[in-house]
Amino acid sequence: MPGAVLFLYMTCERYTVCMRKASEDAYVSEVMRRLIGRYSDKLQTELVHRNITELFVAVLLSPQCSDKQVNVVTKSLFKKYSGFEDYANADLRALKRDLSGLNYYKTKARNLRKAARMIMSRFDGEVPRTIDQLMELHGVGRKVANVILNEGFGISEHGIAIDTHCITVSRRLGLTRHKTADRIELDLMRKVPKRDWKIISNLLIALGRDTCTARTKFCGRCVLKDICPSSTERNHATSTLSSG
Ligand code: SF4
Repeated sequence: MPGAVLFLYMTCERYTVCMRKASEDAYVSEVMRRLIGRYSDKLQTELVHRNITELFVAVLLSPQCSDKQVNVVTKSLFKKYSGFEDYANADLRALKRDLSGLNYYKTKARNLRKAARMIMSRFDGEVPRTIDQLMELHGVGRKVANVILNEGFGISEHGIAIDTHCITVSRRLGLTRHKTADRIELDLMRKVPKRDWKIISNLLIALGRDTCTARTKFCGRCVLKDICPSSTERNHATSTLSSG
């Protein structure tokens, strides 16, 4: 390819990439604007807690359960166990009974006691503040660690908590093509401005619980119906993005 043609080709390529990035940024920013407007009361976790210890326990117990289910169980749990020392010294059979309202309660009871013991012995009874240290604890995966850092310490620069709602919704919104939480987290970290990492997860969860459920899409009453690429209503509505 002659030099001048190659130069022109590369310039056009770069221009196309820039334009694509600009329209992607505009799309993400409009999605965020609308979700914040619609779900302003859902920017924080719905897991009831009064301090970092209770948050840690609630989040550790939350996988495969609804927040409501966890809140029912922790209401009495937090009265009986006041801190990590209590969980570390708990009788395992009694702890399993106390958690029996949750899915996988036997595993969760074992993990909670082991995590509490490690927090007492390695971290002086304090919840660690780094994702690597958190993930050393039993039952703590990347999602749980991200939620604890974000909600408990206001630290969101390590990543974005991805749950099943986030997976479903971000795929439908065209924010990712991937199916695994790790890959989706990377896509969102690339596309969503860092300042929004703290809230994006709870917003996608709110949307997933409200209109964009795993089983059914209620696009007709969704705030993103005119811009979402998976919307069943898109042809009926006028996109404010395309119309400027
Ligand atoms: S428009 Fe439909 S598919 Fe898109 S986010 Fe809303 S409910 Fe989900």
